Amino acid sequence: MTELLQPATHWQGAIPKQAFAVVMDGPRVLLREHAEGLLADRLPRYDELFWHIESSVPWHYMGNFSGPWGAEPAMAWSLSIAPDGFIWVDVRSLLALLTPVGFDLLGRCMQVLEWSETHQFCGRCGGPMQAHARGERARVCAPCGSSVYPRINPCVIAIISRGDELLLAQATRFTNGMYSALAGFMEAGESAEQTLIREVREEVGVEIANIRYHASQSWPFSSSLMLGFFADYVSGEIVCQEDEIADAQFFHYEQLPVVPPKGSIARALIDQFIAERKHA
Ligand SMILES: [Zn+2]
Repeated sequence: MTELLQPATHWQGAIPKQAFAVVMDGPRVLLREHAEGLLADRLPRYDELFWHIESSVPWHYMGNFSGPWGAEPAMAWSLSIAPDGFIWVDVRSLLALLTPVGFDLLGRCMQVLEWSETHQFCGRCGGPMQAHARGERARVCAPCGSSVYPRINPCVIAIISRGDELLLAQATRFTNGMYSALAGFMEAGESAEQTLIREVREEVGVEIANIRYHASQSWPFSSSLMLGFFADYVSGEIVCQEDEIADAQFFHYEQLPVVPPKGSIARALIDQFIAERKHA
């Protein structure tokens, strides 16, 4: 039985003892010490943490998580507890270690918890927000009736190519010498193509054309939806935006620097480009 997450929002009744307890503290998740492999083998079950979780702490039903272990609901809490036998692990470090389904569950929990915590009060009237009465993933203001849903920030990321070369950049925030694809958040009113043209112009000063969509990926660390593209270099000398880009260069696909880890869309775009050039 393969690993599967069936997302859902509405849970009625008590939490089953065997439910998966996804306990998060910002970008960290509580996992079983000395465990490896599938997320299901690393996550605590509700009955193991029951004594550490006060019943008044709100939780979110994330859906049914099934696989070789059977099928159990997954619930998410935002808590900082330290029960014996469990450790806190940065979710980012799990990207290359978990299956896409396991990472998907953690990413969803992280975003829903962050959204819930930052929407305690209504942005319109200041009244207290409550969970949606019929279990929709929404928070509702009783005084004015306003409702909010989890917010997703669209972001574009692209491989700009020039023959056998691809343009990669080292952001000033990268501390490990890594080069990645250029990326940027969409602004209100922009199409994805407009964002890409603007970001590439701002960050490295070059012009692009022939923009092709490839794939997308949810990126929970900034509640982003990454839209991955390929585009062709047209003109311009590379001029790095001072405060954001430390260096940017065209690299031959057989002589690449340190690039992002597998599991990221940046890496998927790079790998796809290499595969296409090798067969060209
Ligand atoms: Zn309100």
